[in-house]
Amino acid sequence: MRTISHWIGGKPADGTSGRFGPVTNPATGEQTGQVALADAADVDAAVAAAVDAWASWRTTSLATRTRLLFSYRDLIERHKTELAEILTAEHGKVLSDAMGEVSRGLEVVEFACGIPQLLKGGYSEGASTGVDVYSIRQPLGVVAGITPFNFPAMVPLWMFPIAIACGNAFVLKPSEKDPSAALRVAELFSEAGLPDGVLNVVHGEKEAVDRLLTHPDVAAVSFVGSTPIARYVYETGTSHGKRIQALGGAKNHMVVLPDADMDLAADAAVSAGYGSAGERCMAISVVVAVGTAGDDLIPKMKERIAGLRIGAGTDPEADMGPLVTRVHRDRVAGYVDRGQDEGADVVVDGRGLVVQDHEEGFFLGVSLLDRVTPDMDVYRDEIFGPVLSVVRVDSYDDAMALVNDSRWGNGTAIFTRDGGVARQFQLDAKAGMVGVNVPIPVPVAYYSFGGWKESLFGDSHIYGPEGVHFYTRGKVVTSRWPDPHSRGVDLGFPQNR
Ligand code: NAD
Repeated sequence: MRTISHWIGGKPADGTSGRFGPVTNPATGEQTGQVALADAADVDAAVAAAVDAWASWRTTSLATRTRLLFSYRDLIERHKTELAEILTAEHGKVLSDAMGEVSRGLEVVEFACGIPQLLKGGYSEGASTGVDVYSIRQPLGVVAGITPFNFPAMVPLWMFPIAIACGNAFVLKPSEKDPSAALRVAELFSEAGLPDGVLNVVHGEKEAVDRLLTHPDVAAVSFVGSTPIARYVYETGTSHGKRIQALGGAKNHMVVLPDADMDLAADAAVSAGYGSAGERCMAISVVVAVGTAGDDLIPKMKERIAGLRIGAGTDPEADMGPLVTRVHRDRVAGYVDRGQDEGADVVVDGRGLVVQDHEEGFFLGVSLLDRVTPDMDVYRDEIFGPVLSVVRVDSYDDAMALVNDSRWGNGTAIFTRDGGVARQFQLDAKAGMVGVNVPIPVPVAYYSFGGWKESLFGDSHIYGPEGVHFYTRGKVVTSRWPDPHSRGVDLGFPQNR
């Protein structure tokens, strides 16, 4: 059986734990490989390789780093299809969606190519007589990234290209469910010329994560995953003196006002609700239909849902693939049962779908639940599957209250033709990313991505300018060169003259 190994010091490493986890193809249900699961000693080996590499990487010139990033960018571009195929084989998403994932990750590499500009400091000549002051940002050292199953290439690419461009060495702990893409992007960086040990990959679960969170040589950790683990990573990491950004789960609301372009809104709700089988942290999982919007929208959504084709991610006709694991598929299907028991109208029922020739695949059809209320579990929990709830409310204010009372605040969107209302919405929404007639407002790479409330623990959003800030720390230098006029002892607090 194929073994997916760690990547330490620029080469594959099997590790010493002797433990492995299964990797499956969600479309067939078959185990296709086994992934090495790191113990603390394996993590220590990866961190040691990063510490060694950092000694020279931190002073590698911006010119060299930039050239390397450009080469890496070209290599990813050339291997886009191969990477997308790896994603489809282990995650299950359809190939076109997987290509989109690689493209959005690539945009972060392109952003990192501008690192000389991004790391420029300030300079004040003559801040005091004969004294110049300048600011610089320096790398932290060894930083780690811990990533979720749903974007096995893009989320790692949100992190390490910027961290490494800033002069850090990196240890990545990807999801053990679909680990191959992370390994491949690391290999490609080596091929581009990255010195050994600057980027390392260790696979694993809690034991590996815990070692990274407590390792004295790890300066900072970026985490993306579910809310309970994000909170745990933030609390454990900060109590061990590390800088942490921990992005958590979501329940994104799409508010539809009666004046919206209903065809646009129906397209958006179906695309954003069921794309990638709802396994996106920016998926729309609640449509908040204001006034008559629900009656207009639901028939249009049903029409579109009827045209969706569900099949293996490699099938070019398929719009939606399977869910990541059997356990997750069954958990999501259980929410449709629960919604029904709680009194929601199951307008479209995705349970019991069987895809021909893929009977053992982890497929689930799409479900649309109408007349969901905020006290139901289907509303309150993050389902992370192809289940979309419609909550009907009387007014814009009721819709706004729902958005803002949610424990999560990742993304939210409003669909309307009224610019004034849209402006008010972006002003008042307690969420980190807002879409106006855009259902999945994932920021472009030169802005930063992150939510509010229980969707983010820590102060920094990820990638973009906040990413550069997170992976560096500031230093201000006040300098005076020997000048015969400024000699003499002065015990007073330094003043500017
Ligand atoms: P997860 O929290 O189960 O796993 C994320 C990472 O944490 C993985 O690397 C996993 O190995 C590790 N992990 C799991 N259990 C752990 C434990 N007990 N202790 C320490 N580490 C542990 O998340 P997932 O199921 O892989 O991904 C889906 C979740 O990620 C959803 O909640 C989704 O909303 C969220 N997500 C959020 C964003 C965002 O940007 N906010 C982006 C993508 C996914």
